Parts: sequence; structure tokens; C-alpha cells
Amino acid sequence: MTDIAPARTGTENTGVKHEIYWRETEPVVPGPPLRDNVTCDVCIIGGGYTALWTAHFLRKADPSLEIHILEADYAGAGASGHNDGFVTPTIGHSLGALVHRFGTDRAKLAYAAVGKSILELNRFCVKQDIDAEFESAGYYQVAATTDQIRLLERDLELAARLGAKSGLDLLDRTRARERIGSPGIEAAVKVGGALINPHRLARGLLRAVTATGVSVHEQTPALTVETTPTGHVVRTPHARVTASKLLYATNAYQHQFAEFRRKVVPVWSYAAVTRPLTDEELGAVHWPEREGFVEAGNFIVFGRLTAGNRLLFGGGRAHYRFRRNMDVAGNIDKPAATEALRGVLSRYFPMWRDVPFTHTYGGCVAITREVVPHIGALGDGRFYAHGYCGNGIALTHTAGKSLRDLILGRDTSYSNLLFVHGKEKPFPPEPLAFLGAGAVSSVLAAQDRHPRLIRTQLV
Ligand SMILES: Cc1cc2nc3c(=O)[nH]c(=O)nc-3n(C[C@H](O)[C@H](O)[C@H](O)COP(=O)(O)OP(=O)(O)OC[C@H]3O[C@@H](n4cnc5c(N)ncnc54)[C@H](O)[C@@H]3O)c2cc1C
Repeated sequence: MTDIAPARTGTENTGVKHEIYWRETEPVVPGPPLRDNVTCDVCIIGGGYTALWTAHFLRKADPSLEIHILEADYAGAGASGHNDGFVTPTIGHSLGALVHRFGTDRAKLAYAAVGKSILELNRFCVKQDIDAEFESAGYYQVAATTDQIRLLERDLELAARLGAKSGLDLLDRTRARERIGSPGIEAAVKVGGALINPHRLARGLLRAVTATGVSVHEQTPALTVETTPTGHVVRTPHARVTASKLLYATNAYQHQFAEFRRKVVPVWSYAAVTRPLTDEELGAVHWPEREGFVEAGNFIVFGRLTAGNRLLFGGGRAHYRFRRNMDVAGNIDKPAATEALRGVLSRYFPMWRDVPFTHTYGGCVAITREVVPHIGALGDGRFYAHGYCGNGIALTHTAGKSLRDLILGRDTSYSNLLFVHGKEKPFPPEPLAFLGAGAVSSVLAAQDRHPRLIRTQLV
């Protein structure tokens, strides 16, 4: 194995903003809050990709539908605006877990649907003139250890069972480093997918959806939901919305609603962004197609270039905070998180280890008990989608179609995909959830260190 350059500590991190980098790529002026009571066909709580795609597909299916989206902050303020921009075909945690749980045929159908979403997403951006910095070179899954090479081999086998195109190939160290010249990479498999600017996708999608007549109310948190004979009544600070159909689309925030309190938990994931690399620095790493990379393992390490040639990378152990705490200010151990990230940088790109970071930040990934997403109906005109487990950019597009069909009462291939109407195991109440999350996290971390000894069917 390659020597790992030691992480440096000290003053080079001075001036790092603990703020989301992507927000700087397009300024946001949130729209006004809802001030007047409205009655409509569909009310959607949350203003991320799930809400926006569902509204898009609903209006396309039936342009007469009156749809109101309520967003507590601004559209894209959640994970949709600050994810890492890897447009992945992955559903839930991993291909292995999905095949194990649902069987090859259902996994194949679902993967085909998400693969189609990746293509459609690109076409949508072109058609709507959304500059989401879409890079179709996609990304590689890489191995940094011999054990991880075995995981890549296993995933290749599974992909073949799912009918993946021939040409999926395990690149050995030499061939892998011809793609991404990192001394941390021992082998790689091209996954495909794409890279995007997530914030610009969210804001562009907002504009496109609004243009079709959907009403999006930013700065409008849903405070309570009550089911009455006239419909579902959502109370917001200044007005109420009464709707025949209601969709909960708040993903990692979904636990705030009693029905989902123990179904989904927010787990922190961290990233760092460097200043733009100079031509000389870029020349120090052979990276001709600029694909991203994701390390095989439970707690992934990943890296990619942004359109402006900053390196965005991150990973490491993910943490669940007591009582689902999502408060950013209280949740990032900034110096420790920053130094852990610098260690990742030194391991993959020792030649760039002194390049200053400009941003480090965290966000909450929505995890379900069985690490698969869940989309469904509560049976009284209310619907939900949550638990994308860190792989939601393409999947929310597919989920939008499933939700369209559920809301319109249609029995289609999308309303029967494996993540629709699945039985959800709840997490235990606190403090067991917190203790359990710590224990699961330790097992997953140990699996990453000793995959052959204790890898279970979870991944
Ligand atoms: C750090 C991080 C990195 C990630 N990286 C990737 C990646 O590289 N690739 C990938 O495919 N996926 C990634 N994901 C996952 C992906 O971003 C999500 O699965 C996806 O954005 C979920 O979209 P959503 O609309 O369901 O949720 P969100 O985008 O979180 O939207 C929910 C919205 O609900 C709003 N809200 C909350 N409560 C209320 C309320 N009471 N009333 C009104 N509004 C409310 C929030 O403000 C938020 O805007 C990542 C996630 C995180 C956190």
C-alpha cells in the first residue's frame, strides 16, 4: 500500500468558512411566506427535490391540479441544496443490500427506473436551461485496500446479475490511476452516473415548477397537520392550507411529524472544499475526464472537482445526534471535523495537502432502519417519501413518478417499485436510538477495517 502523508495541523485552516459552499454559486432571495388561506388539490410539505419533482410530474399528468408547496426556509435549503452532487444509480445503502432484501428481479426493475431518471434529469436541465453544471463523465467506485477490492469484485458480480452492460470492468491500480492519478487508489470500477451542482439544480427546478403554475411558498413552515372532514389542514405561521391530498416530503426532517418519528433518523455527513486549484496544481494530478470517486465501504470517502476546479471531498464516520438533533451550530466539532477531512485529502492527494480549504460543512442524511428508502400512503389521502440514505439526487426523480401515481390512484410500474409500500421497522425510542446508533456505527466502522471478518448481509 501507498504511504499516507500525515495530516497537517496548524494555521493553514484559518479563514475556513463553516458554511455550505454551493450556496455561493447562486444567491438566493427566498420568496414571501404564505399570507392567505388556500384550498387546493395537493399540498406538499418540504421544498427539496422530492417535493419539486412530484409537483412537476403531477402537473404534467394533470395540468388542472392546484398544488401548493410549503417550504420552511427556501427551496433547496435541505439536503437537495447541499449534497455532494454525485448522481448515483444506488438505491438505499448499497446494491448488495437491495438484492439481498428484494431479490434480483425487483432490484433490476428499480435500478432501470433510476438509471432512466439520470438520463431524464440531464435532458430536463438542457430543456429548461438549468445550468446545474452537469458532468456526464460520472464517477468511479474505488478501492484503497485489498479488502475493498473484494467488495468491488462482489459488486461487479451483482451488477452482472442485474444485467449491467458488459464493459463494466475492474481496473487494476495502473489503469485506475490512469483515470484518477491518486496514490490512494488501488483499483476502480466505473459506475457511471453524473456530477452536478446540487444547489443550482434545486433552484432551477424551483423556477421550472413555478413556471408550470405550482405555488411554492418559501419561509412557510408547516406547524401542524390536522385531518378534518373537509380535507387535511396544514397550519403555517400566517395562514392555513386545506388540501384533499397531502405529501410529507421533508426526508431527514420527517421525524418532526408524529407518524414518522421513529421511522427515519438524521445522520451527519461532512465535506470540505478547497479554493480553486491553480493550473500548476491541477497539472500535478493526472485526472483527464474529471470523474468523481467514492471509496467502497460503509462510511464512504469521496472526492470530485467542481466546475470551478475546487476539490470537494469528504467522508469518514457518520454520526447520529441525541434526539435527532439537526442544529448545525451545535453539531459540528469544527476543528476536529476539519482536521479529519485534511487527513482524507492527504491520503488521496498528498500533492494538494497544503491547499487551503475555503469551506467545511455538514448535512443530515436520512436513514431508515433497514437502510432503504420508503415511499407510501397513510391511507387517508396522505403520502410520504423519506430515507434516501445519501443517494437521493436521481432517486427523488424516480420517487416523484411513484408519488404521482400513488396520489392519482394509478396502479403502474412506478407505484409498485420495491421502495413503495414497504413495511417499515421503527427505530427504538431514545435513549435506545442514540445508544443503538452508536453501536451500529461501531459495527459498520469495524466492517470497514476488517471486512472479511465481520461483514454481514447489511451491505
Ligand atoms: C451532506 C449530504 C450529501 C449528500 N450527497 C449526495 C450525493 O452526492 N448524491 C446523492 O444522490 N444524494 C446525496 N445526498 C442525499 C440527497 O441530497 C437527498 O436524498 C435529497 O436531496 C432528498 O431530497 P428531499 O427533497 O427529499 O429532502 P430535502 O432536500 O432535505 O428537502 C426537505 C425540505 O423540507 C423543508 N422542511 C423541513 N421541515 C419543514 C416544515 N415543517 N415545513 C416546511 N418545510 C420543511 C426543509 O427546509 C427542506 O428544504 C446527500 C445528502 C447530504 C445531507
